[in-house]
Amino acid sequence: MCADKNHEKPNIFKSVFTNKCARCRRGAIFLSKNPYDLKSCMKMPEKCPVCGQQVEVEVGFYYGTGYVSYALSIAICVASLIAWWLFVGFSIYDNSIYWWLGFNGMLLLGLQPILMRWSRTIWMAFFVRYDEDWHQGPPQGTGRVNTTFKGAI
Ligand SMILES: [Zn+2]
Repeated sequence: MCADKNHEKPNIFKSVFTNKCARCRRGAIFLSKNPYDLKSCMKMPEKCPVCGQQVEVEVGFYYGTGYVSYALSIAICVASLIAWWLFVGFSIYDNSIYWWLGFNGMLLLGLQPILMRWSRTIWMAFFVRYDEDWHQGPPQGTGRVNTTFKGAI
């Protein structure tokens, strides 16, 4: 049944990492592939090019990405703090903490375009479930059939 590679369920982490649509996990949700193309890196198509899922699910949908971006930034700060502590070390007798602060600030600034795009992709994945049968919207007619009761109907 899953012999065709197109019917395999794409991995959620890989699809988030590569900024793919949460519904089909295949269509790109950003028009530009390059996050450092700063003029167009946040431009999104109206609909997913593969499944037709609305990319901006509702007006102001992506306002909540600030929370995701904050969490990602904190995770990077903690990771860089631990890495600095292990590879460089901290001491009260020198300015190593200030060097780390500068390094961490530059790191966050440099990663900002990537983090902003990941925040939107993660935010979309929170609210939009994977559905391989989703094509140009939900099936018309009687509405979605709950798979739990499929046999009973
Ligand atoms: Zn899609």
